[in-house]
Order: sequence, then structure tokens, then C-alpha cells
Amino acid sequence: MAGIYLHIPFCKQKCRYCDFVSFCNRTDVAEAYMACLLKEIEMRGKELKGKTFDTVYFGGGTPSVVDPNYIYAAMRQIKKYFTLAPRPEVTIELNPGTVNENKIAIYKRAGINRFSIGLQTAIDSQLEELGRIHTAREYLYCTSLLKGENFSTDVMLGIKGQSKEDVRKTIELAAGSGAKHISMYALQAEDGTPIYTDYLNGELPDEDEVAELYDYGRALLAEKGYARYEVSNFCKKGRESRHNLNYWKRGEYVGMGVSASSFFSGRRLINTTDLDEYMKCILSGFFPVIDSTEVREEDAKFEYVMLGLRTVYGVSAQEYRKQFASDWKKDFSAAYRKTQHFLLEEGDVTRIKDEYLFVQNQILSEYAK
Ligand code: SF4
Repeated sequence: MAGIYLHIPFCKQKCRYCDFVSFCNRTDVAEAYMACLLKEIEMRGKELKGKTFDTVYFGGGTPSVVDPNYIYAAMRQIKKYFTLAPRPEVTIELNPGTVNENKIAIYKRAGINRFSIGLQTAIDSQLEELGRIHTAREYLYCTSLLKGENFSTDVMLGIKGQSKEDVRKTIELAAGSGAKHISMYALQAEDGTPIYTDYLNGELPDEDEVAELYDYGRALLAEKGYARYEVSNFCKKGRESRHNLNYWKRGEYVGMGVSASSFFSGRRLINTTDLDEYMKCILSGFFPVIDSTEVREEDAKFEYVMLGLRTVYGVSAQEYRKQFASDWKKDFSAAYRKTQHFLLEEGDVTRIKDEYLFVQNQILSEYAK
């Protein structure tokens, strides 16, 4: 498997918790940026001729904030310069405050067959508190345009003042609207974002409170038929995100656009996070890469184990042996011994026990030593 990621870095307004590479005052250059993205698609496509890609993902930023014809043109360019597998999964992230019927129709014509909607919470006062531009009602309008489509909904935990009742309302809204997939993840208060001040002031729920909300949400999702396949990801049968599964299986991917990262041919590449520098590089005919690193075998082994343990699929001893010609429990013997009581052995596969998946970071940190 291999995936294609395209970064659309524009937003209407910066959310208070956001530390993604996104710009809310640069939509004036959206047309020029998208033209550069088309050029990068051509450059990379020529370089990676011969590889087949199974998924395409438009992320951001807010891909739905730009003219939908730009997305259409980007997909046309992908089809022209890349080889896609039959029935590729093509996803676009949507912000409910930026969609309409016309946009959805153009996305579908472009070949987009999966939508990822950022709801976060069903409580309007919390949406406002987070700096989101939409209401719960606008989420419902967005999902009404996607009746029968394969869509996912993001739910956030750890919002100021959030109760179990709020989590219940949010999950019920998402499930009731027909989401086939729900991502439920904890708010990270990153240094440098406005919400970090709330964190420093002790206004956000602490780790134990978030873990309690998570357990509550997980049980409710299970009741509603959403199975967990990764710590933050739950879905109806057969609706896993193929694009994300590829990341977790350490598959290859090519990222294009400002700040996008790639992993192919044993190297990890990162594009510049500077919008103007990105466009200058592309216009001069250069890849906007600021870092290119060959992955050493010991790093590859660590990545393989770490990514495997994040999911319910765990680490397969046989698969590991096939890739690295060694035994993963021996390669990580000290960490394995220390974390064994958190792990479940199922034949050839080792995975983190269900009840510990949410605190996986503490477990995985042992493997990083
Ligand atoms: S919509 Fe997403 S990318 Fe844009 S500011 Fe909010 S969190 Fe950041």
C-alpha cells in the first residue's frame, strides 16, 4: 500500500488550540499556491513513475475553504501523473462552516469518496471557546449533504468544562447523522497556542479526567457499533481509514504542499513550513524539501513496533521477521520485559491490552530508550 497526501494550508480563522501549518490571512494567495501544488504533483509524479498509490488525502488547514475547482484540478493532476490502484480511497477534510451543495457535488465529480468532518463537540459554547467557526447545526447541514456517503467525524476530549453528558451528546450527534467512522482524540495544549494559557491556569481537564471521558466515550461508541482499531479511531465494519492504516503499517506515502512529509525509498522528507518559500522553490523548479533523512535499520525497527502497538492489529512476529530478519522481542528485550503485563499475546501477534491503549504513550516510551 502507498498513499498520497496534499496539504491545503488555508483556514477562515485560527482555532485556539491549533498548531498545524495553516494560515487564516493568506487566502489571497490560494490560487497561486494551488498552481504550485499542481506543479509539485507533476514533479513528484514523474519521479515516482511506476509506483501505485491506493489512497489520496486532502488535509489541512481547511481544504474545503478554497474554491472546489482547485480540488478538482488537483485530483485531475494526480490522475495524470500518478498511478492509482483500482477503487482508491480519496478523502477530503471538511469544516462544517465552509461547505455547500455545489462544493460537495464538485468533490464527488473529482472522485472523492470519503469525507472527514471536524465537529469536535456538539456544544456550541464549547465550539466558540475553541475558536471553531461553525455550530452543531452547521455540522448537521453538512452531513445532510453527505447522505449515504462514507464520512468520518472528529470528536475532541479535554475541552474546558466538558462533561460526560457533553461527550454523550457529541457522539450521539455524530452517530445519528450517519458517520461510518469516528475519530475521538484528546486535545493537546501545545506551547505557543492561545489555549496553552488555559492549560497553565489549570482550566483544562487533567489527564485522569480525560481518560475517564475517553473510557466513557469508548463504551458508548462500542454500544453504537463502532469498533476501535487504533487508540483514537473507531468505525463500522469495513470502514477503517485505509490512508491512516497505511501510516500505521509503515507503508510508503508522498506528501505535497507546504509542510507535508513523505516516506518512500527508505527516506523521510519534509517540505518547508514557509508558504512563500514553498512557492518560490516550486516556481524555480526545485522540490521544497528542507530535510531528507535515510531511515536507519534500528529506527525502522522502532517505528514498526511503535506503530504496530498503537493499533489493535499489534505487532506480528512473523511480519517483523520477514522485514528485518530478526526477532522483535529480542531486539527490544528490555522494553518488552518491562511492558509485558500491558501486552496481550494472540498467536504470533502482540498488542496492548484494550484497557491500556489510551495510556500507550507511557508504554511506548519504554521502546524509545
Ligand atoms: S480548522 Fe483545523 S487547521 Fe484550521 S485553524 Fe482550526 S484546527 Fe487549525
